[in-house]
Amino acid sequence: MSSSLLHADTVTDLMRDVTAAAAAGAARLAGARQPHEPASHDEIDRALSRIDLDTPLHDFGAAVDELDRTWLRHAVWFHHPRTLAHLNCPVAVPAVAAETLAATVNVSMDTWDQSKAATVMERSLLTWTARRIGFPAAADGMFTPGGTTSNLQALMLARDECLERSARTPHAAPRPVRAASLRILASAESHFSVSTAARILGLDDDCVVPVPVDAAGALSVPTLRRVLADLATQSLTPMAVVATAGTTDRGAIDPLEDVAQVCAQHGVWFHVDAAYGGALLVSPTRRDRLAGIDRADSVTVDFHKAWFQPIGCSAVIVRDGHTLRHCAHHAAYLNPADTPEPNQVDRSLQTTRRFEALKLWVTLRTMGPDAIGAMFDAVIDLAARVAHELRSDPRFELVCDPSLSTVLFRWTPPDAGNDDAAGAPLAAHASSTAHASFTTGNGPDAVDETADRWVRPIRRAVWDTGRATVAETEVAGRPCLKFTLLNPQTTLDDVREVLDLIHETALSLTAHDRTGKARA
Ligand SMILES: *Cc1c(COP(=O)(O)O)cnc(C)c1O
Repeated sequence: MSSSLLHADTVTDLMRDVTAAAAAGAARLAGARQPHEPASHDEIDRALSRIDLDTPLHDFGAAVDELDRTWLRHAVWFHHPRTLAHLNCPVAVPAVAAETLAATVNVSMDTWDQSKAATVMERSLLTWTARRIGFPAAADGMFTPGGTTSNLQALMLARDECLERSARTPHAAPRPVRAASLRILASAESHFSVSTAARILGLDDDCVVPVPVDAAGALSVPTLRRVLADLATQSLTPMAVVATAGTTDRGAIDPLEDVAQVCAQHGVWFHVDAAYGGALLVSPTRRDRLAGIDRADSVTVDFHKAWFQPIGCSAVIVRDGHTLRHCAHHAAYLNPADTPEPNQVDRSLQTTRRFEALKLWVTLRTMGPDAIGAMFDAVIDLAARVAHELRSDPRFELVCDPSLSTVLFRWTPPDAGNDDAAGAPLAAHASSTAHASFTTGNGPDAVDETADRWVRPIRRAVWDTGRATVAETEVAGRPCLKFTLLNPQTTLDDVREVLDLIHETALSLTAHDRTGKARA
């Protein structure tokens, strides 16, 4: 099948080969005893540099075998219960089948004459999501490759609505001048894609005004009001306020009702970045945590995070579907304005576009929304139980209470803050009271600094073993370790195992450090 295109007579056999190869690859990873097998960048580079892309193997089986050696053998398996590092989920089985089908049919979503029922299915899912949000019937939206693009599209609509409104105002300055005076207000812990969007949209360098967060990492509404008042005195125009429903690190949900009210008072576009927390829309027990999201003008939802869909699957949902007209361009060869049926390209920043909605469709038709929500609930519950254990574990310091499914913590060196105690017995651990919270005191003391210093080496050394993955980040200016729990099959015992691994790894790192220092 080396040079075959899909063909009516051979499609069954070809698909059997393709499916078997994919299944074999997945089975290899599924059988792995750990998240990944260690392989250095050098080793990987060397193996791949031996492959000459101008010299094909002329054999599908051989090409797949080669993949096994060069990629799958040491790929990161996100379904492993000890893969705890990133906001990348294990995927629902029906979605995987749908991916294959979508690629096989190769439907393109830009125009009705290429997509037919696929367009109606996609539009139904967008409307379904809008209803879950609580939007009125005029709502619409668009699938995108990810939250980054969803945020970009939402902010583009916000900009164009704002400019259009100001252009209607008598004596308004011409467009470029107005664009330079636009401001986006977002919490200091909002996702960096907000700034990326601002840059792409050609807005001023300091267009994104970071609004400080409260102790829980949520946007502070009194400060938001003050910043808006400040902008008015400088003749700057707020074009959007971005609230995050589930910040990437702390999982904090900004106070949506309050922010909505402020936006309504100031006539500002209200965007909710629910890339992570958007799965609460299907949670059987926690939907109320998104109260106020129905007052947004636009919402970003990443189905490829806590909805267990393969990458990429995101959507931007807008309260008023009419605002999507800012994306439209009518090309004579593609989407004449007078086509009676919907051409989805009129609402998208992409032209040729995959049928990403299909996987979500098949997942919902097979499992139903409650099952997805229950899986998200399970990892949120697990995060709470992990936090509970960490609170009474002297080996670690819990940085803050979890809000969704992330847990932020630090390893506590047994002899932290006492350089003379090198080699101090482990018993010192029990008396260690290094549970300083980042919200108290005037900055890190010696104990804090020692704990901070070990975050990166620990994260790296644990990753190097391949036995678990844990992330690192910074909260309130201090480094910490982070679990992102997205696998409902991960148990508390799995996490305990990772905590033991972190502790052992950290102890051996610090022992090395001491030996090194003693020798020096
Ligand atoms: C992940 C994330 C994004 C970016 O989404 P991608 O799908 O990675 O492009 C944006 N906002 C938040 C809050 C996120 O967690």
